[in-house]
Amino acid sequence: MKEEDSILKVKGVGEKIQKKYEKLGIYTVGDLLEHYPRNYDVYQPICSIRELVEGEVCAIEGVLDGTPKLHKVRNLQILNCNVTDGTATVKVTWFNMQFLMRSLHTGIRYIFRGKVSVKNGRLVMEQPEILSKEQFYNLLDKLQPIYPLTAGLTNKSVSKSIAAALKEIDLNGDYLPLDIRKKYDLIERKKALKAIHFPDNKEKMIDARRRIVFDEFFLFALALQQLKAKNETRQNKYVLAECAECQQLLESLPYKLTGAQMRAWEEVKKDVSGNRVMNRLIQGDVGSGKTIIAVLALLLNAKNGHQGAIMVPTEVLAKQHMESFCELLEPYGVKVELLIGSMTAKEKRVVYKKLKDHEVDIVIGTHALIQEKVEYDDLAMVITDEQHRFGVKQRENFAGKGEDVHILVMSATPIPRTLAIILYGDLDLSIIDELPGERLPIKNCVVNTGYRPSAYRFIEKQIKEGRQAYVICPMVEESESIEAENVMDYTEQLRANLPLKTNIEYLHGKMKAKEKNNIMERFAAGEIQVLVSTTVVEVGINVPNATVMMIENCERFGLAQLHQLRGRVGRGKYQSYCIFMTGHESKETKERMDIMGKTNDGFVIAEKDLKLRGPGDLFGIRQSGLLEFKMADVFQDASILKDAYEAAEEISKAEVLDMYKKYEGLQKKIKMYTSDLSL
Ligand code: ADP
Ligand code: MG
Repeated sequence: MKEEDSILKVKGVGEKIQKKYEKLGIYTVGDLLEHYPRNYDVYQPICSIRELVEGEVCAIEGVLDGTPKLHKVRNLQILNCNVTDGTATVKVTWFNMQFLMRSLHTGIRYIFRGKVSVKNGRLVMEQPEILSKEQFYNLLDKLQPIYPLTAGLTNKSVSKSIAAALKEIDLNGDYLPLDIRKKYDLIERKKALKAIHFPDNKEKMIDARRRIVFDEFFLFALALQQLKAKNETRQNKYVLAECAECQQLLESLPYKLTGAQMRAWEEVKKDVSGNRVMNRLIQGDVGSGKTIIAVLALLLNAKNGHQGAIMVPTEVLAKQHMESFCELLEPYGVKVELLIGSMTAKEKRVVYKKLKDHEVDIVIGTHALIQEKVEYDDLAMVITDEQHRFGVKQRENFAGKGEDVHILVMSATPIPRTLAIILYGDLDLSIIDELPGERLPIKNCVVNTGYRPSAYRFIEKQIKEGRQAYVICPMVEESESIEAENVMDYTEQLRANLPLKTNIEYLHGKMKAKEKNNIMERFAAGEIQVLVSTTVVEVGINVPNATVMMIENCERFGLAQLHQLRGRVGRGKYQSYCIFMTGHESKETKERMDIMGKTNDGFVIAEKDLKLRGPGDLFGIRQSGLLEFKMADVFQDASILKDAYEAAEEISKAEVLDMYKKYEGLQKKIKMYTSDLSL
């Protein structure tokens, strides 16, 4: 069996199961083997009921105290019984497992293993497994893989399929040259694949993980090299000469560009007037003022007679850009149009025609811009904003709308410069590391829910002064399994707690684009005072009059994400505030929130977060969704990234060809690295 073979070849996988795997993006045996555990479960020794601790998964051994009782709540069958081991008694609960009634008998010793939580002030073990002594002692101290699943696939069945595939697979030797494996102390690929799924112990798992992470980075680095080599051959077909209008625009702004903005702008100008096509990334923290650079670049491009386009990840942001571009560019006779998914087919057709007939100089849009029907007369520049929300592939498709067009990408992901140079290896880098001058640093506070009433009074006061506020909740609506604030109920609660005349609305990703746009527009216009939202507001929204960001259940978000959210305020001349509301308190939450409370610097946060998690915490909260490798995490595995990058620099062309020979699927895989990952 080969990696390229269909998973149907795996023992036990029929067409029905195949369909389920497809949902997880698993088509081939290789895909299945790369369906890595998201964590491991370690079976710890049995503990006495008296010692049970809330929040932990524990195993207990005991007998039933009384008979199990079944009752129905809504459509849920709840089975309860008490278990005692002589030290104490604990309630055990199963949901929709009424069939267990028949197999639970008094007088017999069972081992139950499950998560312990507190309900109505009492400890409960929920949904535990029931194990025989033999089963339990076979599993004790072992690392059991926990896989990402989908409906219809159980952890057991995935684990079985993977074990079957590992048994039959022919991995054809190791494609990574021996000298590299030696130099970086990497185990064989085959061994790594076995050990990542079924490690004998933690050390073996760590070695396996290291090899897999190395491979991901290494292939990624090779992919970037190829992109870069391709770019370097691209001659500049659109040499753009300086224009008076850009200078006029700069002089008309109500502010002066910061030194860092100025540098970035100079670098852009130098690129587009040089011999090679521009391929530049502007990296700058939220609020550092990247948009104006895009406006200037597109104005320069238009005044040189060419068309340009800017793509953003959300419609809300597209509309916002549309407004500010139109306002800024109005005096210069530049024609700007919007192209977004929620427009009618007819409206879109009008824009398509205008683009083709060169009646538009600048188009602002979402993914709608990379649709097949979009054709230009003379496209010379494409810009992607919030690049970390797009894949490299989308960036390429976007650029593919023209021929050797200038490419500018903008990102707010705060990563240390050393990493950025590697990760954006195919691009030249401008960094805006300076926030516009008169900004007051955001004031932060980390509080628990007991502080809510005061927080509401505070928001009320800010509204009275004419300001606006955001409240972020992790969920859209109420959920049975997750206890966290949700946008729908919260909006009601807030309406009851703030003066009647306050206009409070909500926003979440499940709403129709039209509704979302409408809400965002009204918020931007100041008609809505408080916006209760999920993280959809995270990306790029700019409402300078908003001064309060309150984040409920902040422990549920990654630090990078919290930083992005906080970046929605502190964008104007007013003092802004960020309230981190913790839903539950643990040492970890406290440490993480301490970081947020103490600094507003994205780079510092990224680095501290990394240190805090440490190399032992292999499966911690992931960063902002940046570069979703299957296994690797660019922050946590930064040192492996550096090794892999170095190895990719040193490898010879002949060795690369040899690798391709050894592993048929490799070229395809390398291509995938530049298409599926978002940077
Ligand atoms: P981001 O880098 O997050 O995209 P924006 O481009 O949205 O930031 O800029 C945030 C706000 O700062 C905008 O209201 C913009 O007009 C303003 N701004 C940009 N540059 C400056 C500057 N040099 N001085 C003062 N305000 C600025
Ligand atoms: Mg922006």
